[in-house]
Amino acid sequence: MKYKPYGKTGRTVSMLGFGAMRLPAQKDGTCDYARAVPMLREGIDAGINYIDTARGYITGTSEIAVGKAIKSYDRETLFVVTKIPSNDIENSRELEWRKQLEQQLARFDMPYIDMILFHGLKWDAFNEHVGKPGYALAAARAAQNDGLVRHVGFSSHDSAENITRLVETREFDGVLLQYNFLDRRNEGAIDAAARIGMGVTVMGPVAGGRLGVPGAVALDGEGMEQMRVPEIALRFVWSNPGVTVALSGMNAMDQIHENVAAAERMTEIGDAERRKVAGLVERNAELMKLYCTACGYCMPCPNGVNIPENFRYMNWHKVWGLTKEAKEAYAKFSPDGFWAPWATGQVTGLSASECVECGECEPKCPQNIPIIKQLKETAAALGS
Ligand code: SF4
Ligand code: SF4
Repeated sequence: MKYKPYGKTGRTVSMLGFGAMRLPAQKDGTCDYARAVPMLREGIDAGINYIDTARGYITGTSEIAVGKAIKSYDRETLFVVTKIPSNDIENSRELEWRKQLEQQLARFDMPYIDMILFHGLKWDAFNEHVGKPGYALAAARAAQNDGLVRHVGFSSHDSAENITRLVETREFDGVLLQYNFLDRRNEGAIDAAARIGMGVTVMGPVAGGRLGVPGAVALDGEGMEQMRVPEIALRFVWSNPGVTVALSGMNAMDQIHENVAAAERMTEIGDAERRKVAGLVERNAELMKLYCTACGYCMPCPNGVNIPENFRYMNWHKVWGLTKEAKEAYAKFSPDGFWAPWATGQVTGLSASECVECGECEPKCPQNIPIIKQLKETAAALGS
């Protein structure tokens, strides 16, 4: 396992982090400790010392599982991170925030948390209350003074610009953000965080958030050994010098072994190979543009079809071999819309199968894409 300093915290963390959001659960929705705890221990035994959880994960029982798992280890060698809701003004009030924190410490059954993250922090919430006297940031500082929390950071799905703003407040030791080869909009925020000495943790190194993509195709890596998509995804994230930790939400022993092995191999990788991974990602990104650049000129469709979003998933399938992720995303199209991290928010509109072939969109496409034909192909490939 390779380790890196986590920003200016003085702590050293594993480049692979254990995301405890998808640990095995029982039918009632609570964590299946008998299966989850050995998995966490397997990861720790393999060298992972960065563990990420949150107040809300697995209906509040993920923190209990982490607490149980780490009992037999030297607490000082581990970097346990959890999240606390703070955007809502009620949760953000100093007293309420402290009450939640104390509940979380009780769940972990441990005296301190290495880093507490404001969960899904929004710039507006920070500006309006979180950063103001009497609210969450003041409560976090008090908790630091009392030894309950060592470091303070935030996670965010806000716009790239707002995440950079939050970074530039210089109030935080670490940030958890979305970054992968399909979604590079946070590169500026990563650079900014690294410049000022923050630790950077990345969630969702592959499109939908899963690293273990069963059956993902091996891609031609021009002289590299053939790598599966999950490993390319991890290498891409780790190749960014600003990134400290890539999180994987692991819930199977073989997934843990696979990700640890990828991290072990990464330690031997030099700059030349890093450039090859970057080149491969760039080439595939160019290939995606051959199909649809997501310019949106064809929109709106009078029948409500979200043309570029359908083609995005077709690209995942065709260019990256991420068929499972593409099908999962395609199945989410609904008249009510759905939230998608890769699309910076809510995706509205309908799936390719709703196209009635009116032909209105095709003359508007600067790429001259035969939209009707390709939508049919998309529906056939992803709709079953
Ligand atoms: S051809 Fe299909 S996608 Fe294009 S505008 Fe008509 S209904 Fe919409
Ligand atoms: S106009 Fe063409 S390239 Fe642009 S989003 Fe529509 S299909 Fe894609």
